[in-house]
Amino acid sequence: MKMLYGKGVSSGIAFGRIVFFRHDEVSVTRTRVDDTDAEVVRYLEAKKKAMSQLDELYEHALKQVGEEDALIFSMHRMMLEDPDFNSSVERIIRRQGINAEYAVALTSRNFAEMFSLIEDDYMRERAADVKDISNRLVRCLMNKTAKAQEHKGKCVICADDLSPSETVQMDRKTVRAICTARGSATSHTAILARTMNIPAVVGLGEEFYSLCDGDEIIVDGGTGALYVNPDEQTKLEMLRKQTEEIYRSERLYSLRGHDNVTRDGCRIDIYANVGGIEDIGAALANDCGGIGLFRSEFLYLESSEAPSEELQFQVYKQILERMCGKRVIIRTLDIGADKVARCFTIPREENPALGVRGIRFCFARPEVFKTQLRALFRASVYGRLGIMFPMIIAMDEIYEIKDMIEQVKSELRSENIPYSIDVQIGVMIETPAAVMISDMLARQVDFFSVGSNDLTQYALAADRQNPGLERYCNPRHLALLRMIRIATENAHANGAWIGICGEIASDLELTEAFLAIGVDELSVTPSAILHLRDKVMSLDMSRRALLLEAIGRV
Ligand code: PEP
Ligand code: MG
Repeated sequence: MKMLYGKGVSSGIAFGRIVFFRHDEVSVTRTRVDDTDAEVVRYLEAKKKAMSQLDELYEHALKQVGEEDALIFSMHRMMLEDPDFNSSVERIIRRQGINAEYAVALTSRNFAEMFSLIEDDYMRERAADVKDISNRLVRCLMNKTAKAQEHKGKCVICADDLSPSETVQMDRKTVRAICTARGSATSHTAILARTMNIPAVVGLGEEFYSLCDGDEIIVDGGTGALYVNPDEQTKLEMLRKQTEEIYRSERLYSLRGHDNVTRDGCRIDIYANVGGIEDIGAALANDCGGIGLFRSEFLYLESSEAPSEELQFQVYKQILERMCGKRVIIRTLDIGADKVARCFTIPREENPALGVRGIRFCFARPEVFKTQLRALFRASVYGRLGIMFPMIIAMDEIYEIKDMIEQVKSELRSENIPYSIDVQIGVMIETPAAVMISDMLARQVDFFSVGSNDLTQYALAADRQNPGLERYCNPRHLALLRMIRIATENAHANGAWIGICGEIASDLELTEAFLAIGVDELSVTPSAILHLRDKVMSLDMSRRALLLEAIGRV
């Protein structure tokens, strides 16, 4: 038996035999043409044909993987209509007097290179989309159709990389898993595999090429492990794990599309916490109601330079677009304490958790704050945006934030840049001070989101980073439930809504208490969404009064 490890990007266990994927590559030759006008017309006709193929593929994907993921093919359509792409093809045909196939190949190579240089995983992955579009165009120009590879029996498709169209056209009856040498969690292959519920492991590297067609293989898409020509004991163990997983996930997946309502009609929203654009696929696949916390600091933590306004705008825009009108709450930069960003020099502090973190850092670096707010408001027209601010302790902070927002809006107006007038503004309730002034805060904002991870450490005086303090850092402490109750009552009495986005939100032992208190939304890691829905649907709230009595009023 041989074992290989990659990055598990779509969970599930699959058994099968390896089939190496044969890309339907098209080779392009460079030929001289005399009539460049006619060549441009030939290109435009091929483009029309490619467009209608993409429409068909969209319809096919719509049935296979649903609307959100089918959008990949509308995106391809948009790329095909991109004026820069088209004028480049036309220019090459006319200036160099060469055939359309070569002009398309050259243009797409330039575009793919441009994408691959961008320091953002998601954007880098778009290089594969450009290649996909170019192959389609060239096939149309040559009057060729892509031949789908036929597979017999259960197979595990192995490839250096796969394009989105290759992935979506896989026959789900025979393809048990997908393994690639390259790729990342943000590649569309990974996104589609997750949505199609096909286990997938990517980034297997060079060792991957030691595998052969026909080898027996077990793929664990959760851990990223591949067992090649497995022994009997491994087969038995993996079979047991597979049975358990199938049973559990089928039951949970059947809850997609259901409301988060208790047996006696109490409703709560369940949103997703995400750290980057690469988590959006999982959030949607698990049927989130929206994004309750986008930790924007990851954009800063990942790079040695602070992300520019343009880069942030592109990321926020994409998230909003991909969420198709569902609410997206983006938290402004929350660094300091354990989150150290290499792109800023921050003086050492004796007590970083009580130091210049969250909103305090943004006030200390107004240019950084303003850049982020500009990117957020510019992106706001692409969906339903909420912006929330971390580590709030006082009213003057809200006034300062609002001043900054007004400045940003007025700048955008004078630059004729549109922004939405419906952006909701919220604060994190993660300090005891914020709880105690939550009545006043609620009059100034649209929503609260309880950051129970920090609220626990600050309320219980127990460092969340110190493993020796687990006994004291108890998020189920009555003090915290009381604080959540106070903040909820103050929010509702003053026209605001309230959610919880700390880890406590997915604690199923507390779901009933949160419903009793009247919390409006729980935001959890994508894989916890359906577990939480399952819990909500199993409850009835007949013990509400009893629970509230146990929590007590302050
Ligand atoms: C929290 O404090 O509960 C929270 C959600 O924020 P973070 O864990 O990122 O500090
Ligand atoms: Mg926090």
